[in-house]
Amino acid sequence: MDILLKGMAKEEPLLVVGLVDTETVEKARSIHDTYPTASAAFGRVISGAILLSSILKEGQRVILQVVGDGPLRGIVAEADWLCRVRGYVKRPHIHLGLKDGKLDVGRAIGKGFLNVAKDLGLREYYHGNVPLQTGEIATDLAYYFRVSEQIPAAVSLGVYVDIDNSVKASGGFMVHALPGVSDETIEYLEERLKGLLPVSSMVLNGLGPKEIMEEAIGLPVEILERRDVLYYCPCNKDRVLDAIVALGEKDMEDIAHKGENVNVQCQFCKTEYAISQEELLSLLFKAMDLNKQTEG
Ligand SMILES: [Zn+2]
Repeated sequence: MDILLKGMAKEEPLLVVGLVDTETVEKARSIHDTYPTASAAFGRVISGAILLSSILKEGQRVILQVVGDGPLRGIVAEADWLCRVRGYVKRPHIHLGLKDGKLDVGRAIGKGFLNVAKDLGLREYYHGNVPLQTGEIATDLAYYFRVSEQIPAAVSLGVYVDIDNSVKASGGFMVHALPGVSDETIEYLEERLKGLLPVSSMVLNGLGPKEIMEEAIGLPVEILERRDVLYYCPCNKDRVLDAIVALGEKDMEDIAHKGENVNVQCQFCKTEYAISQEELLSLLFKAMDLNKQTEG
């Protein structure tokens, strides 16, 4: 079972979040058939979205998008306040050579941007956008927190891909320095984080989220919240039909004129929905009707 824990350092104003999400990232890999470098990048973006979701309120949702000029082109992951996550990779069949014995995520992503969109409910949205610093995701996310949300933060993410291409370990942690933190604590943390084992190794060694959190800051942590993490896609046929309507009358007519049934695939979970000719035509008539009403 994948778990996210949120806690506070017992004696310092530090918010700490720990995550083990090996099963979730392995599920994402198998759905999208990603190759190792793509799996590592995708897994980090998924874990990043889950860490971001830990500071959401009930009913809220966050979308983390990484766009770069490297071969992967782009990765999207969205997570809700219950740590249910889904995502996709533009080009899943990417595998590059290793760099210093590690999967070269930075090169696979390249130069570009990290975008964060939050659906805060009641039609309220928040958007933040920063240029990628390294394309390794964790440093980019820490940069995003500092620049866009004015939160001094440390983020670490790690995915270990096995020789058979499956995801053997995935996890992460995040430390937010809250107001009132001393300079000494920040200096101590910076030094400590430099010497840490990669988080993928911690997960491989069997550490759980609480142990990862305490390892990260070297201080005892009091747990405030625990959430199960899950790859989950809420798509259904009605939503797929809505998406077709959103294409507009012209595109719908083109599809309908082909005179065939169409299969539409959800890009997040690869579920196929068969749309019959009758369904297409009735959607088209409904759309034309709606347009008349708005024009009239
Ligand atoms: Zn789906």
